[in-house]
Amino acid sequence: MKALTYHGAYKVQVDNVPDPVLQAADDIILRVTATAICGSDLHLYRGKVPGMTNGDILGHEFMGVVEEVGSGVTAVQKGDRVVVPFTIACGECFFCEHELYAACETTNPQTGMVEGRGALMNKKGLRSGAALFGYTKLYGAVPGGQAEFARVPKANVGPLKLPTGLADEQVLFLSDILPTGYQAVLNAEVKPGSSVAIFGAGPVGLMAVACARMLGAEKIFLIDHHAYRLEFARSTYGVIPINFDETDDPAQEIISATADRGVDAVIDAVGFEAKGSATESVLTNLKLEGSSGAALRQAIAAVRRGGIVSVPGVYAGFIHAFLFGDAFEKGLTIKAGQTHAQRFMPELLERILAGDLAPEAIITHRLPLTEAARGYATFDKKEEDCRKVVLIP
Ligand code: NAD
Ligand code: ZN
Ligand code: ZN
Repeated sequence: MKALTYHGAYKVQVDNVPDPVLQAADDIILRVTATAICGSDLHLYRGKVPGMTNGDILGHEFMGVVEEVGSGVTAVQKGDRVVVPFTIACGECFFCEHELYAACETTNPQTGMVEGRGALMNKKGLRSGAALFGYTKLYGAVPGGQAEFARVPKANVGPLKLPTGLADEQVLFLSDILPTGYQAVLNAEVKPGSSVAIFGAGPVGLMAVACARMLGAEKIFLIDHHAYRLEFARSTYGVIPINFDETDDPAQEIISATADRGVDAVIDAVGFEAKGSATESVLTNLKLEGSSGAALRQAIAAVRRGGIVSVPGVYAGFIHAFLFGDAFEKGLTIKAGQTHAQRFMPELLERILAGDLAPEAIITHRLPLTEAARGYATFDKKEEDCRKVVLIP
């Protein structure tokens, strides 16, 4: 089959690779009908995550038709159309019982070994979290779904069966970015009348915007420096855009616009590759910053006292000049982490069916899988006003 594979930083290509085969009784083989490139794939693409091996198949946002089922699969049948969550969870362990699927402690079971540590630097004897599709040996070395076929482990827990009548594009983002935006907004406790600032107008930030709107947020500030992304969000969701190339200090603008108080909650949908404004660049030049805490510092600065900072953006390792004292002084709650996708997929599907969410609105690029490398380059460089790339095998 054809699959998008990694060959070093900024080098991905579509190769012919062996078809996947069933390995466990609760595996299925999926014929992939649509798959997307995620901002998390860009961290891999740029060579920023250790643990990649040449030839690794990328991709954790995918859906398709069940082609083969293992003898222990009861939840789906051959021919069913499903969307697959990026987190692989067993459904039975301590964490799965608490619906903390991204913390599933059985699917990336290399406890204590370097390979199973995820991004933790100070792991000690802690058990591993969930395996993820296409996300290096740190997360289980499970081949991803940017391919013609994919093996889906734990098929009784992950894949969500889809009703007829919905196009792939309408439901594809149930695999990751829609639940991720939704979890971020729930963690931020957004409700009718809330004010919220969302850093990052990428796919995750946009899904958070859509979910915040759906839950009745009154004022949504959106911060980025890609004018075309901000303009899309302004015209589609009615956000108040702030371009950090034009404003040196977005947090100060937000505070000034909220009676010198700050917003109820901030969502950091940027992560560790955040770009700095001029103020932040000063910190970098002074070597107060190693990897980027630019968005996180802005988040802590923009939120009101007693507010919440919700962090779906991926972080790894340490951040200098992380002003924990400010978080303490303001009495903040910080919630972060990978999405417990399985928990939110059914209710979000209902929301799509009810017309409350139309996540496909953010798609700008639809390419055949064979052109995936071009899709990566375009999404990475934010060329051609790219918001989201969908690949069709
Ligand atoms: P993306 O790269 O398209 O979007 C990131 C956006 O942030 C870009 O538009 C960029 O211009 C903007 N940005 C950069 N620096 C900024 C700053 N200082 N302030 C404001 N905006 C800034 O990626 P995406 O797909 O939207 O993903 C965003 C993050 O979410 C990534 O870190 C990704 O890994 C993460 N993610 C997490 C989960 C999860 O489970 N928690 C799931 C999916 C993605
Ligand atoms: Zn993702
Ligand atoms: Zn589990």
